[in-house]
Amino acid sequence: MNILVVNCGSSSLKYQLIEMEKQEVVAKGLAERIGIEGSRVEHKATGKEKLVVEEALEDHKKALEIVLNSLVDDEYGVIDSLDQIDAVGHRVVHGGEDFAKSTLIDDQVMKVLEANVELAPLHNPPNIMGIEACKELMEDTPMVAVFDTAFHQTMPAVNYIYALPYEYYEKYKIRRFGFHGTSHQYVTERAADMLGKDLDEVNLITCHLGNGSSITSVKGGKSYDTSIGFTPLEGLPMGTRTGNMDPAIVPFIMEKENLSPSQVSNLMNKESGVLGISGVSSDFRDLEAAAEEGNDRAQLALDIFEASIRKFIGAFLTEMDHCDGIVFTAGVGENSITTRERVIEGLASLGLKIDKEKNDMRGKEAIVSAEDSSIKILVIPTNEELKIAQETVRLTQN
Ligand code: AMP
Repeated sequence: MNILVVNCGSSSLKYQLIEMEKQEVVAKGLAERIGIEGSRVEHKATGKEKLVVEEALEDHKKALEIVLNSLVDDEYGVIDSLDQIDAVGHRVVHGGEDFAKSTLIDDQVMKVLEANVELAPLHNPPNIMGIEACKELMEDTPMVAVFDTAFHQTMPAVNYIYALPYEYYEKYKIRRFGFHGTSHQYVTERAADMLGKDLDEVNLITCHLGNGSSITSVKGGKSYDTSIGFTPLEGLPMGTRTGNMDPAIVPFIMEKENLSPSQVSNLMNKESGVLGISGVSSDFRDLEAAAEEGNDRAQLALDIFEASIRKFIGAFLTEMDHCDGIVFTAGVGENSITTRERVIEGLASLGLKIDKEKNDMRGKEAIVSAEDSSIKILVIPTNEELKIAQETVRLTQN
């Protein structure tokens, strides 16, 4: 069974074709700069040469056309015809309160997705464009939407209501939704497996640390609390996003700098975070290199990021009677040996201890805590595409 996983951004389309019996990626690629000059598609099937198509991509449909042609190409492709794609799984960022689970896409679902655009104006429109392009080009192929927010729909109100007048929740659905749900769910399932526990018995703190970051408290295999909010701006400081700060700073800066709502939003989403603090880069590898060379502000940015991770871990530990594991995942969590080491060393007062030898690796599943650590520490490379493909199989086979 072959599942095509599609993840559309405003000017990009990433895809993987996954063969589900072996759970193997047989082809993957990326269309970039859709609707912008210099657009191109990169396609690579396992065991074959990489194909680069440099062609004007006026919209997502055109990009998908080239992707589908590449998949069936005699030289670069992996399948004989599009009929060999059994279903398509789409990543959708915001499901609002309407989708607590992945769903088969039909006309009614499309209407609800459209209605949720105002909750994620940057992310949901390209997701919808990707679905529409697939519907046009693969009319009879079943499609599934897998939401970044769905895993967090199990959070209780105590963890999703903000201390604003309640009517704003009722009128505008202003509440914490949570993001990176597919990743938190994937690593939760893997962690339960690695710890030999039933999913509904496992309590975890999952740290998705990448360009965007969030930490989730998982109780009984379900999301109970999460650091990230109404939009993907809350919680930890990220590559370019502020994370938590005093909300009064927003009108203060707007007045001082004479900024409009969209300008201040841009400042908080694109110019802040570890980039804003360091003035060096939003990329954690660059920050680690600059800090190593003695750049104090790069070091400060890393210190603030790590302190913020510790504060969430500390707070989330108070929400559970015991914790089976703390999981590190995503670009930084999977690969940064020093981030893991420094975060855990700062939690020694809670009995947490890392085994430096076991921790001395990148991008592999492992338990890296010392034998006498109070809580197990796990590294689990995330695989959102595989989770989307699994959800797609589950829904299309029923
Ligand atoms: P993601 O958003 O999950 O793709 O993560 C991207 C982030 O992971 C970038 O800031 C990268 O610099 C960071 N990253 C990737 N590899 C490493 C590494 N070896 N050490 C530190 N950070 C890394």
